[in-house]
Order: sequence, then C-alpha cells, then structure tokens
Amino acid sequence: MKNIFILVGLLFMIACASNEKKQETLANKPKNIIFMIGDGMGVAQIQAAMTVNNNQLNFERVTNVGFSKTSSSDNYITDSAAGATAFSAGKKTYNGAIGVDADTVAQKTILEYAEEAGLATGLVATSSITHATPASFIAHQPSREMAEEIALDFLKTDIDVFIGGGKDYFTKRNDSLDLTTDLEKNGYKVVFEQAEFANITSGKLAALLAPDGMPAFSKGRGDMLAPAAMKAIELLNKNDQGFFLMIEGSQIDWGGHENDIEYVVSELLDFDNTIGQVLDFAAKDGETLVIITADHETGGLTLVGDNIMNDTTAVHFSTTHHTAVMVPVYASGPGADAFSGTYENNTIFTKMMKALNLTP
Ligand code: MG
Ligand code: ZN
Repeated sequence: MKNIFILVGLLFMIACASNEKKQETLANKPKNIIFMIGDGMGVAQIQAAMTVNNNQLNFERVTNVGFSKTSSSDNYITDSAAGATAFSAGKKTYNGAIGVDADTVAQKTILEYAEEAGLATGLVATSSITHATPASFIAHQPSREMAEEIALDFLKTDIDVFIGGGKDYFTKRNDSLDLTTDLEKNGYKVVFEQAEFANITSGKLAALLAPDGMPAFSKGRGDMLAPAAMKAIELLNKNDQGFFLMIEGSQIDWGGHENDIEYVVSELLDFDNTIGQVLDFAAKDGETLVIITADHETGGLTLVGDNIMNDTTAVHFSTTHHTAVMVPVYASGPGADAFSGTYENNTIFTKMMKALNLTP
C-alpha cells in the first residue's frame, strides 16, 4: 500500500515537472515566425509616416526594439539582395547575391530549414516575387538580375504560399516554359487576380498579381499587402507544426530612390496597416513571434519640419541610393527579448533559427 502512495506521488511530481517545462517552452519558444521587412525603411521613414498619421503608428505597439548593422561583405552600403541573404541564410555576402555566400556557394535558407522540419512556409511582397528580397529566402543565384532562374527555384522548394508580382518570369520566359503548369502539377492553386485568392481557404497558393513589379499603393495597388498577408497567415496557420512567413513592404525603398516623400509615406502607412493586422493575429494566437525590420535605409532622409507632405523645406533626401545607417528591429511575442540590442544583420537569422528550434 505504502509503495503505491510513493509511486502515485512520484508520477504526480513527474507530471508537474513536464507541465512546467511545457509552459516554459510556450513562454519563450514561438510556434510561428512572421518576419516583416520594410525595404529601405530607416527611422526617418517611420517618423515621417508617424507625423503624417497624427503622430501614431502600429509600430508603437511593439515594445522590444533593437538595431541591425547592415553592411554587406563587399560594401559599407548593402543592397537588398545581400541584406535579405543575411536574414535568410545568416551569411554576409556581396551586393547582388541571392541565397549564396561571398564565394557564390548556395546557402540553405531559414525558409528551407523550416519547410524541411515540417513547418508551413510563405512569402508575400509588393514587388515581383522574384525580386531580391523575397528571392533571397527561396532561390540560390549569383545575381539578382537572373529573374527567370529565380522563378525556376520556386519549384525546388515546397513553399506553401507566395503572393506578389512577377507573373512574366513564370509564363513569358526565354526558354518558353510555363512554370504555372508545373506549379499546378505540384498542387498549387495559381491565380493572377487579388479577388481570386479571397475564395481560397486551403491548400497551396501561388498568386502572381502583376507582370513584373506591383503598382504603387497610390497608383492602383491599393489595399493588397494586408489582405495578402492575412490570406497567407490563414492558409499557413492550418499546419499544426507552425509556420514561417516573410512579408515585405517592397516599395518604401522605391519611394526613397525617387526622393518622393509621398511615395515613401503611403507605402509605409500601407506596411503599418499590415503590421496592425499581423499584431492582432499574433495577440490572439499567443504563439507567434513577429519581427519587423529593414534591409537598409534608402534616400538618406532627414526631417527638419513637421509639414511633411506640403512643405518641401521640411524634408531632405541626401542621396537617391541606399545609406549605411543602422535600421531598427521591432520584435513582439514569445522569444522577442532576443532582438533587443545592437547586432549585425546576419545574427537575425541565428536568432530566428534558435526561436524555431531549427539547427543549421
Ligand atoms: Mg525588396
Ligand atoms: Zn533599393
């Protein structure tokens, strides 16, 4: 009899210990990562949009903030390809490199590790899906210019959802292949209009919504990024093992290159609206780590007055190219603490891999 009490007590203790361990895991380890990149988004771009938007943004809901040092392996000033490859593969590489290291050797990306480990994966962008930032998560090519080769790489990984522009790189190719046929053979629903993906509620989705880049928010794209992001989350979240999703506000950078503050602000507000909806999902879900950062700043933007949209003396751009300044990293949810501090951009890869228990 006494032995039974001891046995029951022992089992109870073991049960409590494993329960504690489980709770600790839930508190520090996310099931999902949503990684959001505002291309060309420095603090001045965020400040400009905040000022225009009654001094508030969804960014302010995120309490963990750090800084990322953005230089590439061959340049003080990175481009988007080297910047995204640092995030996706953990390697500082040369400007123009897509998922390859400084010696052009292919480097497995976090999206590929996640896919292999049974997580669902997705990419959403407001540029061509073959453009440098999304491409660096799935493709391995020595140059960002190789859009048709990059499109072919989408067939080599079993990514679950991708939404952006770039239809022509899949359908109007020099090799006359129509990659959308192969995608359909591999089980994807392939759509070319935003209205079409609203009705898709399960399975794999390839949405190619423009021949090349998407139009600007204010020139016909309108509310596409948030619905695309939320559709991706809806589809990926059906996987019990979790998901990795990259969402890019691609055109904040393009506004910077054009030194067009209205372009920058409208793209940033569109990105911020998406951030709000993503944070709402993450708050309800409780197991999602959301990270929001940039690959680099674009335009050398300075604000010297608050009448940002109407007073041309309030806003200065110092270049039509990228700059070297550090960019902010916002993180929210389980594991967010790891993103405080100042660190090299490629350590974001390591932090995300650790958070998802993935080993390189
Ligand atoms: Mg980009
Ligand atoms: Zn750029």
